[in-house]
Amino acid sequence: MTESTKKDASQTRSFDALVIGAGFSGLYQLLCLRDRLGLSVKVLEAGAGVGGTWYWNRYPGARCDSESHSYCYTFSEELWKEWEWSEKYPGPPEIMRYLNHVADKFDLRRDIRFGTKVTAAHYNEATNRWHVTTDSGEVLTARFLVSAVGCLSTANVPDIPGLDTFKGKWYHTGQWPHEGVDFRGTRVGQIGTGSTGIQSAPVIAATAAHLTVFQRTANYSVPARNGPLTPAFNRWIHDNMEEIRTTMRAAVNGHPFLLSETLTLSIPAEERHARYEKAWEVGGLRFRAVFRDLVTSNEANATAVTFLKDKIRKIVKDPATAEKLADIDHPYAAKRPPIDTDYFETFNRDNVALVDVRADPIERVTPTGIRLKSGAEHPLDIIVFATGFDGMTGSILKMDIRGRGGLSLREAWKAGPRNYLGLQVAGFPNLFTVTGPGSPSVLCNMPVAIEQHVEWITDCIDYLRTNGLTQIEPTEEAMDSWVQEVNRAADATVLPQAKHSWYLGANIPGKPRVFMPYAGGMAYYRKICADVAARNYEGFTMTGD
Ligand SMILES: Cc1cc2nc3c(=O)[nH]c(=O)nc-3n(C[C@H](O)[C@H](O)[C@H](O)COP(=O)(O)OP(=O)(O)OC[C@H]3O[C@@H](n4cnc5c(N)ncnc54)[C@H](O)[C@@H]3O)c2cc1C
Repeated sequence: MTESTKKDASQTRSFDALVIGAGFSGLYQLLCLRDRLGLSVKVLEAGAGVGGTWYWNRYPGARCDSESHSYCYTFSEELWKEWEWSEKYPGPPEIMRYLNHVADKFDLRRDIRFGTKVTAAHYNEATNRWHVTTDSGEVLTARFLVSAVGCLSTANVPDIPGLDTFKGKWYHTGQWPHEGVDFRGTRVGQIGTGSTGIQSAPVIAATAAHLTVFQRTANYSVPARNGPLTPAFNRWIHDNMEEIRTTMRAAVNGHPFLLSETLTLSIPAEERHARYEKAWEVGGLRFRAVFRDLVTSNEANATAVTFLKDKIRKIVKDPATAEKLADIDHPYAAKRPPIDTDYFETFNRDNVALVDVRADPIERVTPTGIRLKSGAEHPLDIIVFATGFDGMTGSILKMDIRGRGGLSLREAWKAGPRNYLGLQVAGFPNLFTVTGPGSPSVLCNMPVAIEQHVEWITDCIDYLRTNGLTQIEPTEEAMDSWVQEVNRAADATVLPQAKHSWYLGANIPGKPRVFMPYAGGMAYYRKICADVAARNYEGFTMTGD
């Protein structure tokens, strides 16, 4: 008998498993543990609905940059065939409709508690159970705890002096008001030019009286070339789930296309340029796949850098603005590579200005705007923080997680995250993290990474049950060797060279500088995880009661 059948469901505070978060990860984890393994499961979600990233990020211009037919689950052919995406890169409303459809179709909502934030999770050694505390003070317990809190779910609002004195309104893109923001007739200041800022600036500029973009780190961007999906393409998607899934699983980044076999410098310069032009016309993240070695060779990457900076200089009419936008200090794709709709073109509008805050930093927010170190004042009615997230570890470490002997995860990760396969941490038995640090995660088309993690965790828990085991955690040695592998994989790429990257935690003052995601590729990582499981969970210690 599972624990939920022992008591009336509404009274139950004791479960086989608790899952934190109801985005792509938490929804699928609930379905797997409840419907495939028959466990009693509760999902605890801070938001008032499902959707995770898409519930919170409703800012103007928000869209996925994975192609829609790959930004979805592949575990159910029925679900795959009955859903039809309207465009190549849909925004939050459509992705939310999809995730709500999933929640309804699989009757997931009855086991999700919304408006419930987890503040602490403590492991009790005597009972081998996790005691999970919510913001209302309630304590729920479970044998297994799955953190599906998301890699990009803790908004990073920079600590700029004077923000509390601002008389206008300010917003963070990752906590956007669900009723929207009316920019008409207003002077808007946008801080941040990462993927989000590059999406939002053109849309804000189209309605605001004036937009000032405050840029600290200039960034590459490739046109998304968004558009509606044709009926013929949709038919092809419906009929070819297996083929699409096979490609995504074989691809380094989990996208529905493979890297080119061609090495960048193996062909003459004119041919290389022609390929870049073609890839620019195709647009989106396929640009990154145009050559095999763009992120593994600095020499190869430099050719993409030249091509992309030339494009900026051609698009942006004012030479001084173009120079600021093209003054990019990192290799292409070493930061999350943005894709856009008219980002650079936006700077040709009369109502848009670019301010280089690396040259002249923001000194403070005043009651009426932003003042720079030079004394220059920018009067504003609205400030938009497109400043991203405390990525990968922010949401996990916000909770007071304690394992054996009261060991705190914050303490264990003081010098940076350490775990085994990105899935478990020594000293924290039966705690699993979905797409956390040490896994391909944000370097990947995430639904692919999420399905792999959720299925691995489900199989692992099933293995424990089948073998009369109740506890699993990695050995310190396995964890040490995985940390080495994560570092090795990162150092084999140009990715750690972006000094201001959130992949490195560099956007958060005081955060240790450690390259967090696993850069060895999703396909390779999947094989490593499968091999570990096939060797009876090598590197883990498992015990029974
Ligand atoms: C603007 C934007 C665009 C993106 N576009 C893409 C894309 O095109 N392709 C791609 O692959 N990825 C993209 N991502 C990454 C995206 O986060 C993942 O694709 C995916 O949505 C992650 O799902 P998740 O369930 O793991 O996490 P999330 O969707 O972040 O969900 C985590 C949930 O956990 C909840 N939570 C967190 N802490 C607590 C707590 N203490 N207690 C209770 N609940 C908690 C949060 O409220 C949230 O609902 C994008 C991210 C952003 C921000």
